[in-house]
Amino acid sequence: MRFDIISVLPELLESPLNHSIMKRAKDKGLLEVLVHQLRDYATGKHRQVDDYQFGGGAGMVMKPEPLAACIRKLQAERQYDEVIYTSPDGVRLDQALCNRLSLKENLLVICGHYKGVDERIREEFVTLEISIGDYVLSGGELAAAVMVDSIGRLIPGVLNDETSALFDSFQDDLLAPPVYTRPAEWEGRVVPEVLLSGNDKLIDEWLHEQSLERTKARRPDLWDKFVHSH
Ligand code: SAH
Repeated sequence: MRFDIISVLPELLESPLNHSIMKRAKDKGLLEVLVHQLRDYATGKHRQVDDYQFGGGAGMVMKPEPLAACIRKLQAERQYDEVIYTSPDGVRLDQALCNRLSLKENLLVICGHYKGVDERIREEFVTLEISIGDYVLSGGELAAAVMVDSIGRLIPGVLNDETSALFDSFQDDLLAPPVYTRPAEWEGRVVPEVLLSGNDKLIDEWLHEQSLERTKARRPDLWDKFVHSH
């Protein structure tokens, strides 16, 4: 799977995508992430990528021409399954959307900055607008990093234990159960006995029960969804 990301601050994407699982995915050749500096597509002495907002108002807007030039160049090289704009007014990224996007081959992601991109770029090129939550970031890079990580780890072969993503939170509209490691007793707190029993059936039942309890207590919205779909 390949991500092409358009950004005015590629540095912001370097660290999050070059360690741990993301690094392994790249090393295994399962994930490719290319970041394109938008300024390289701007013309004029100052290679300006933003300009004043028509109608007044504070804050700059990303100009259409450099974005269009960059998107068109990339589109001439490959067919994108989606052209994504990171934006607070997009659809909320959730596990279901991550699952769906993890099946794609080529995704193009546009990171906004300042007040965002000129609306006409969205009309002309964008096929999917994604928000990572109801808060405002300074730029789309962190949102893009969240997307690459959450989607990338779902590509078959990326996680060592292939089944492990299935037991993460949200995969079944449930939160994950609590987890424990050694020592079995730490500062007077003991690990639930069932986990030490070696009885797989009992353990599975207990874990499932914990998932249900946790979801009911912490996320009534998810719980409703789970109850209605099971
Ligand atoms: N004026 C815009 C916010 C601009 S923030 C508004 O109020 O909606 C600058 C850029 O950061 C945006 O263009 C977008 O690319 C990115 N961004 C900010 N918050 C985001 C979020 N919650 N999800 C995804 N991208 C976000």
